Amino acid sequence: MNNCIFCKISTGEISAEKVYEDDQVVAFRDLNPQAPVHVLVIPRRHIATLNDLTTVDEALVGHMSHVAARIAGDEGLAERGYRTVMNCNAEGGQTVFHIHLHLLGGRQMGWSPG
Ligand code: 5GP
Ligand code: ZN
Repeated sequence: MNNCIFCKISTGEISAEKVYEDDQVVAFRDLNPQAPVHVLVIPRRHIATLNDLTTVDEALVGHMSHVAARIAGDEGLAERGYRTVMNCNAEGGQTVFHIHLHLLGGRQMGWSPG
């Protein structure tokens, strides 16, 4: 989609520190990390929010979670633990309207989230 920052990262038009990519998803380090490891996993296809998912996207979202878990393993977080989060719309704290799975780790997480 035009003017979507994450679509531009997916195509390489905007640079990012990519840690993984395949035909369906791209994973890159967050510009403003909230933990020692903070990676975003995005689909290459533009989907604005979780509300816009359809049944055909179910495998894609499953793949995003699987990729996040594999990256967590690569980053040495599998046994220590980590958190994955997807924010939706204003009260969920979503600021970029191209869905993304946050992978956060490397420190003790608190609960409940702010
Ligand atoms: P949200 O608040 O929508 O759940 O998360 C958006 C995330 O994208 C934020 O953590 C923010 O730091 C990150 N972000 C926004 N713009 C960029 C960018 O241009 N590059 C990278 N690597 N991360 C970005
Ligand atoms: Zn997009």
